[in-house]
Amino acid sequence: MTELATPPVGESTGTTRISHWIGGRSVAGTSGRSGPVYNPATGRQSGAVDFATAAEVDDAVQAAKAAFATWRTVSLAKRAELFFRIRELLHERREEAAKLLTAEHGKVLSDAMGEVTRGLEVIEYCCGIPTLLKSEYSEQASTGIDVYSIRQPLGVVAGITPFNFPAMVPMWMWAPALATGNTFVLKPSEKDPSASLWTAELLKEAGVPDGVFNVVMGDKVAVDAVLEHPDIAAVSFVGSTPIAKYVYETATAKGKRCQALGGAKNHMIVLPDADIDMAADAAISAAYGSAGERCMAVSQVVAVGEVAQPLIEAIKARIPKVKVGDGMDPSSEMGPLVTKEHRDKVASYVANATGEGAEVLVDGREGAPEDGFFLKPSLLDNVKPGMKAYEDEIFGPVLGVTRVGTYDEAVGLVNDNPYGNGTAIFTRDGGVARRFQFDVQAGMVGINVPIPVPVAYYSFGGWKASLFGDRHVYGPEGIDFYTRGKVVTSRWPDPATSKVDLGFPQTR
Ligand code: NAD
Repeated sequence: MTELATPPVGESTGTTRISHWIGGRSVAGTSGRSGPVYNPATGRQSGAVDFATAAEVDDAVQAAKAAFATWRTVSLAKRAELFFRIRELLHERREEAAKLLTAEHGKVLSDAMGEVTRGLEVIEYCCGIPTLLKSEYSEQASTGIDVYSIRQPLGVVAGITPFNFPAMVPMWMWAPALATGNTFVLKPSEKDPSASLWTAELLKEAGVPDGVFNVVMGDKVAVDAVLEHPDIAAVSFVGSTPIAKYVYETATAKGKRCQALGGAKNHMIVLPDADIDMAADAAISAAYGSAGERCMAVSQVVAVGEVAQPLIEAIKARIPKVKVGDGMDPSSEMGPLVTKEHRDKVASYVANATGEGAEVLVDGREGAPEDGFFLKPSLLDNVKPGMKAYEDEIFGPVLGVTRVGTYDEAVGLVNDNPYGNGTAIFTRDGGVARRFQFDVQAGMVGINVPIPVPVAYYSFGGWKASLFGDRHVYGPEGIDFYTRGKVVTSRWPDPATSKVDLGFPQTR
């Protein structure tokens, strides 16, 4: 991460100062360090976000720790009621949230609405917390003895989130964490931090007690303070693989529970019997939606056998129709990238593709809007393992095509890849699709579905370098991650069965 110079803030520069949220109120940062926030569609700075010190992170943890004592005693009925209220408020204000996302991330409004809606589904799942926390009870496990299990919250837990889903990914974390009785400290991406403050205000309005949800803005200093803090019991992270690995190793070395989701290189296999139009529509949507800045984006099409040429032609024919522009314009289908640095990095893969031996069929650097951080969709053919365009997670609107001869070669590519987030197969053959589901080394699999993000009552997570830890996020595994089990063995005084017995307790 680049160290950002402190930009000017204030009315004279027209930028908004974005601060922390601790103990139920906005708290201005004191470090003197901050980072710029841009409107990616214009390229102009719109805000400056404070970067927290370790002491400010500690303030947030202390507020969360104080709130935990009471929050964990709130009944399941009341927590469910609160979640229904959060759900209603968020649903009413989803357009407001979407505009905030578009203003700082750049994604088009319809896509931002999709982000909020998918996050809402996680909150709706958490409305069922009384049912989700039901446990087991064994009556008469031994004579006069009952055994039952309960799941209890961990305490103060933290979330560290990426720029590409500034509202939804935090919801994956804080919703199950709060529903299960934990209190929360969020460290959002410094690139588009406003959605987190908006969420904090909404939770307060819904009636979430002060200190239950806190936000510290910042960079590596804040992240390290979270990882080192002795009062944080668990850390959820979503971001790039090198940072996910660092977070997982540091947090677990400090004795914390950790789930750290990393990057991806999602392959979409197209078999010769696939419907070409359907596969081409899916490839366009999954590669260029949100300008490719999705961890479930398809970045690599693997064309098997004779499907390659007609498929490439169908994809190529669709690219000029993708309307690229300011995300606030309802007619735009694809917005800008998040920062100039990221746009330039993505463009470099297209610039270097020919030198690596690939073929640039569509060059998205040409004709992109000049203001803002725009690139148009790019299409590369004959992309092969060993090339940077194949090996790296580009995280932009660049789709590579690899041509192979057989299904086995295609699956081999997916399984040899260090990442294992999502993958998809397009075919009309149910037997092959079933074999694929059995064979493939990835956490989320689509059969004729290009972006197989699980619904809220399943859990989301990849394999290999896409996830460090053994619990996926949200759904049943999210509830599990934010709770720990306790088993109670109980006997009520019954003089008829009482006796002294020094032997090891037996059930028979
Ligand atoms: P990132 O790794 O740069 O940043 C993620 C978080 O880590 C941010 O809060 C950031 O402030 C912090 N961070 C950055 N550098 C750090 C450092 N050196 N030390 C400590 N903390 C640091 O990721 P990003 O660019 O914000 O997001 C894009 C990445 O996230 C992509 O790789 C994408 O695939 C991944 N992602 C994965 C999933 C998933 O579910 N697997 C979902 C969304 C995004």
